Amino acid sequence: MSGCYFGDQLLTLAEAIDTALRSIQPIRETKMVSLLDAYGQVLAADLLARQDVPSYDNSAMDGFALYRADLGPGQPTRLPVMGQSLAGHPYSGVVPRGVVVRITTGAMLPAGPDAVVMQEDCRIASDESWIEVDGPLTARLKAGENIRRRGEDVRIGTVLLPRGLRLRPQDVSLAAGQGIAVLEVVRQPRVAVASTGDELCVPEKELLPGQIYESNRYALIGLLQRLGCSVTDLGILRDDREAVLPALQEAAATHDVLLTSGGVSVGTMDLVKDVIAELGRIEFWRLAVKPGKPITFGWIDNCLILGLPGNPVSVAVAFLIFARPLLLRLMGAESAEPLRLRAQADFQFRRKPGRREWLRARLRYDPKQNLVASIYHTNSSGVLSSLSWAEGLVELPEDCAGVVPGDMVDYLPFVGMGME
Ligand code: AMP
Ligand code: MG
Repeated sequence: MSGCYFGDQLLTLAEAIDTALRSIQPIRETKMVSLLDAYGQVLAADLLARQDVPSYDNSAMDGFALYRADLGPGQPTRLPVMGQSLAGHPYSGVVPRGVVVRITTGAMLPAGPDAVVMQEDCRIASDESWIEVDGPLTARLKAGENIRRRGEDVRIGTVLLPRGLRLRPQDVSLAAGQGIAVLEVVRQPRVAVASTGDELCVPEKELLPGQIYESNRYALIGLLQRLGCSVTDLGILRDDREAVLPALQEAAATHDVLLTSGGVSVGTMDLVKDVIAELGRIEFWRLAVKPGKPITFGWIDNCLILGLPGNPVSVAVAFLIFARPLLLRLMGAESAEPLRLRAQADFQFRRKPGRREWLRARLRYDPKQNLVASIYHTNSSGVLSSLSWAEGLVELPEDCAGVVPGDMVDYLPFVGMGME
């Protein structure tokens, strides 16, 4: 099959993502998972509340449940304690007028009383047979004070969690609080990952002359796992058509996505692109971005192909800015927009307008409490240590002609993008 390369045109990132998103159908298959397996997975359908939370009126404090009308307003009032309502052990029956019931935090409010006084706010008899509420408090106590009403937190029938949500610990906890033990989530995308290059050596082996240690897979697999993908590690593929073609063909037949690094530029050994074009089709492969210009997007049958560059920094940036939003779409997740902060640059940076560019950066407050962004001392896309140093990226738009200290720039923190 021949590839359609969009000529030699560089696509902007926005055009590329737009084009790609239009061709990606979210995975429809769902599965039921238990709560402890649900973290990071995408909720497949709106989850409705099955019950009110709290499911009964209860006390917000350790104290005494009473009738407000039994307090002489502004007068110190002594009342006998008759019984108790403890968490898990409610008081049975109706509380008669003129008495109080000891109550603990979360315990069911017994029938009758309309307020709870905190135990710290009363005088309590040493044998707990009575309490005394002082004058100012008797005047101040409001109806419903220190009472958590049924349904105050969640109302039965309302949307508890929306579809498309990537479940965070607190979301799973909210479901548990409803007595929901299993959740319907989108099946995880099956993603195969391969690094390509004759120079690459696995970390377990001794380097031969001219070799380097392979590092990209260790970033990619971590990023994919944290995103919620099911990953197959294809290891290192040699720069040899006979090795690359069958490996990609087989992976494409059994995965939703094939993610490669290296071999998509214009060098003589950059044959990944050619093999993809041979097995399927390439939608585009040149983006107006820096680092990472050669980013290949295509299909082999129904398998989405993301051919990322080989340079360690380029591959990570290409993943964050390009692959991540596409994978989230495939997962049926809502909103992939990264958090964007405005910060003052403390650096000078010269560049030609034209490509969108990301600089490895860190953020801090200056003494005047302004957010200030700094960048790594070198901007080469081969410098892996720069990514480890960085806590985010400064993003320069296509038309930016350079930065001088004091300019306001966009800063994208790694937190929330799986790089924290
Ligand atoms: P390529 O895009 O294949 O020409 O690779 C660009 C640069 O990235 C070369 O210097 C490669 O040696 C390096 N590179 C490619 N793949 C990897 C990898 N998996 N780990 C570390 N460096 C790589
Ligand atoms: Mg290569």
